[in-house]
Amino acid sequence: MRTRLIDKVGEIAAGVRVTRQTIAAVALAGVCLAGIGTLGSSTSQAAPAATAPVALSTAVPSAFDLRTTDPASRDADRPVVSTDDLASARAKVLADEAADLSAAQAVAASDVRQVALNAAADKITAESKDLLDKSKFLWPTEGGVGSSFGPRLHPILRYWRLHNGTDIGGACGNPIYAAADGLVVKASYDGGSGNNVRVNSGQIDGVEVEEAYLHMTNYVVSEGEQVNKGQLIGYVGTTGLSTACHLHFSVYENGTGVDPMKYLKR
Ligand SMILES: [Zn+2]
Repeated sequence: MRTRLIDKVGEIAAGVRVTRQTIAAVALAGVCLAGIGTLGSSTSQAAPAATAPVALSTAVPSAFDLRTTDPASRDADRPVVSTDDLASARAKVLADEAADLSAAQAVAASDVRQVALNAAADKITAESKDLLDKSKFLWPTEGGVGSSFGPRLHPILRYWRLHNGTDIGGACGNPIYAAADGLVVKASYDGGSGNNVRVNSGQIDGVEVEEAYLHMTNYVVSEGEQVNKGQLIGYVGTTGLSTACHLHFSVYENGTGVDPMKYLKR
């Protein structure tokens, strides 16, 4: 009885083992089935996904779809040029044009500067020539001619007599410059000429030439002093027989008054 019981237990145990083996087998089969099921479901889901875009692009042939789905057919007969390439090419053209313009402007500026320099050089040359030309006097003070050389009715004496000089300017106190180089032979005051200066310039074109500056407010040179053309000698005034501020400028050739305009060539 005891043996039968043990056998029974053994059978039960074997049954349990069988049962375990069966369960394990069934479990393994289940895993495989599940795997197949997974594969099957993947396949069944992939198929529609692969066909869907084709169906869409055929149904809706928009430019976007054509460009993104099949670029080769669109660009097959033309070179591929990107927007970046176009932009950089355009930038190079503009840079070249800017460089050309800049070079042209530099040349133009150089030409303008050269013209200005030439004009300045010409002016300096002309002024130097005038300064060295004894027969061409410097305009002695600012302003135009108020009364010319020649016979006139004297504004104060009220009778006709020779106006032996040229009246220039009209602003009291304006500086008066030596019209020519020379030696100051007179710097004094008298009733007719007021404060006046007389300069001997020596021989010019074969005659002895002197200049006189009359009616000055005051003079700043002295007798015996050598003055140079352009040197300050006094200031415009109305001293002596004068009705208003001006410079009376006289020129004498061998002691005789002549028209100063012969020498004052503006
Ligand atoms: Zn005068």
